[in-house]
Amino acid sequence: MKYALSWLTLSAALLFSGTMKAQTIVIKAGHVFDAYTGKMMSQQIILVKAGKIQQIGPHLRYAATDKVIDLSDSWILPGLMDCHVHMTVGMPYKKMAIEQMYATESTALRALRGAHNATVLLNNGFTTVKEIGNDGNYATAEVIKAIRKGWINGPTIFYAGKIISPYGGQTTSDIEHENFWDYEYLDANSPDEIRKAVRKNIFYGANVIKLAADAQPFHYSLAEIEAAVSEAQSAGIKVTAHVSGGEAARNVIMGGVAAVEHGVQLDDDLLRLMKSKGTFLVGTDLAVSNSLAYGIDSALALQYYHLNIDRLQRAYKIGTPMAFGSDIIMEMPGKDRAQAALEILQTWKDARIPYHYILQCMTIHAAELLGIEKTRGVIAPGYFADIIAVKTNPLDSVEAIRKVSFVMKEGKVIRQD
Ligand SMILES: [Zn+2]
Repeated sequence: MKYALSWLTLSAALLFSGTMKAQTIVIKAGHVFDAYTGKMMSQQIILVKAGKIQQIGPHLRYAATDKVIDLSDSWILPGLMDCHVHMTVGMPYKKMAIEQMYATESTALRALRGAHNATVLLNNGFTTVKEIGNDGNYATAEVIKAIRKGWINGPTIFYAGKIISPYGGQTTSDIEHENFWDYEYLDANSPDEIRKAVRKNIFYGANVIKLAADAQPFHYSLAEIEAAVSEAQSAGIKVTAHVSGGEAARNVIMGGVAAVEHGVQLDDDLLRLMKSKGTFLVGTDLAVSNSLAYGIDSALALQYYHLNIDRLQRAYKIGTPMAFGSDIIMEMPGKDRAQAALEILQTWKDARIPYHYILQCMTIHAAELLGIEKTRGVIAPGYFADIIAVKTNPLDSVEAIRKVSFVMKEGKVIRQD
């Protein structure tokens, strides 16, 4: 009897705490970015409960006991998404030595850097990222576990595991150190080897597959790309490919990948092919400041910049689907990882991409690429409450998103300045 009573007391306590957790949060929003239309809506109220958006509208009723967050002086957006990050990679400013990093940093250290960058990204408004490889021996899998355990705050992470590539990954090596890259890449040199590599990554936690299709003078064939895509599809996940242009790019597009990463040398025919196949471009359009961080000279940095701008403009004009991706691996003085990523806004601005479209590429379009367009990427009923705020109108200047003043992740306030 005593046992039954205490069990009842426990149940009542749990029920009570459950009710407490499901308190409604009321966000009074001065302006809300409608990611569907690319327009701002004024004077909205957003009701959040149990991590999700319940309602949004101008005249919603709420109870006196609800928790009110007054953002009536702010512009509210869906949480930002970066579709190309390497959270566990970091190299000193102007000291590009990636092979040295592979050889001298443990997976544990890589995971700690990843945990740090995960927190930094979320604090700066990135509520979802696609982590795209180069993480030692599956370091990011451990970061994701730490976030799920509540040890650290971090974004929702789509995770590629090891990059699958033809022999040698994206490295250079002498013959005596052959295969040193095995902690970063899975060599896969036939459709069957690719299927095995896809399965291995999924086994260790990947929910997206990354191929480096043309990092060496050889590149993946159409049959090899198709093997990756069909194996991933049978596990319900997408494939994305590092590729520059030419026949290698044609193979990855025809093979059915979800996105081309970088695509610096895509010509108009390939961009049109991507449009017709629904293939996204994740352009990783580094600003001059980002390129200089590699230690290259300013003339070369400018040359890359103009290539990026030209390809961005052509993709926008043609209507190739696009999602924002940063690809930051170099540290920048005075900037954290998120601030370094947002330097890329300069490239998009100089390419004269409209601000509302940039914001869509960082929210609703990115969500579509990641396959989460029904749960994240817009502020609408039923969607996860991944919500950020800024103090000036990002449609007047998209630079506004460099200074995020409020971050909510799945209904939990991460930051409020
Ligand atoms: Zn990359």
